[in-house]
Amino acid sequence: MCRSQRFSFGFGFLVGLALILIPTTHAWSKEGHILTCQIAQSLLEEEAAEAVANLLPQHVEGDLSALCTWPDQIRHWYKYRWTSPLHFIDTPDGACDYDYERDCQANGIEGMCVVGAIQNFTTQLLHYQEGTSDRRHNMTEALLFLSHFMGDVHQPMHIGFTSDLGGNTIDLRWFRRKSNLHHVWDRDILLQALKDYYDKDLDSLLEAISGNITHGIWADDVSSWEKCDDLLPCLNQYASESIKIACKWGYKGVNPGDTLADEYYNSRMPIVMKRIAQGGVRLAMILNAVFGDSQEGFAAAT
Ligand SMILES: [Zn+2]
Repeated sequence: MCRSQRFSFGFGFLVGLALILIPTTHAWSKEGHILTCQIAQSLLEEEAAEAVANLLPQHVEGDLSALCTWPDQIRHWYKYRWTSPLHFIDTPDGACDYDYERDCQANGIEGMCVVGAIQNFTTQLLHYQEGTSDRRHNMTEALLFLSHFMGDVHQPMHIGFTSDLGGNTIDLRWFRRKSNLHHVWDRDILLQALKDYYDKDLDSLLEAISGNITHGIWADDVSSWEKCDDLLPCLNQYASESIKIACKWGYKGVNPGDTLADEYYNSRMPIVMKRIAQGGVRLAMILNAVFGDSQEGFAAAT
C-alpha cells in the first residue's frame, strides 16, 4: 500500500476545475470508455450505486460515464503529468507476455502502470469506505481514474510493445484513412461498427452489449470474468489477456504502410466488443466489492 501511495501525491484538487475538454489521441476512444462505464454502472448493487452517485459532481446527474474520459483530458496538464504512464504498460518487444515486476514501472518507480494505478485508486476508495482515507486524496478523482483505467487495461494495444509505443508508431491505413495500429484498436474498429450496425447510436450498441452480457453470447462467461478473490492477481490477469490479444490479433500480420480493411475489421470487431464488456463487468465487480455491505473486501467479490 505504501508503494501505491507513493505516486498519489499531486492529488487533492477540485475535480470541477479540471473538467475542460482537451482532444486526445492516445486512449481507448471516448466511446469505449463511455460504454465500459455505462455497463459497469448498470451492474452496480445498491450500496455501490449510491456511493458512486455521491462521489460524482452534481452536474453529471449521477452519470459516471460522463466523466470516464476525464483522465485522458487532463493527462497532459502540468499537475497531472505524473498520471500519463498510468494509462498503459510497455512490455518487451515480441515477448507477448506481461510480468508485473518487470513491466509495471515508469522511470524506475514500481507500480507506475495501469495495473498499479487501478490497485492504488481501489485502495484509496477502500480506505475511504472504511473511514481511514488520507485527506490528501480526492475520492472523486480516485473513482474516475479507477473507472477509466479499467477500460484502458482491457484495450489490448494498451499492453503493447515498448519500441512501437503499443502500435502508436505503426502508421497504416484504416480503409482509406490514415491511422495507426494503436488508434485502430482505440477507436477505428468501434466507430466503424457503430456506423455499420448501430446507425451511429451509442445507446443501441450499449443495449446490444448489455443484452449479450445478461442473456446472450457472454451470459455463461460473466461469472468467470468477474471472479476475483485478490485484486492484484486479477489485474495482472487482465493485462496478460490484453498483451496476448495484442499479439494474436493486433500485431499479427500487420506491417507499417499496410491497409487494414474488411478482413481485419470483421475478425477483430467481436474482440473489441468483448473487451469493452469485460471491462464493464469487472469495473462493477470492483466497485461492488469496495462499496458493498460485506467487510470482507475482495473475498466478497465473487
Ligand atoms: Zn487512458
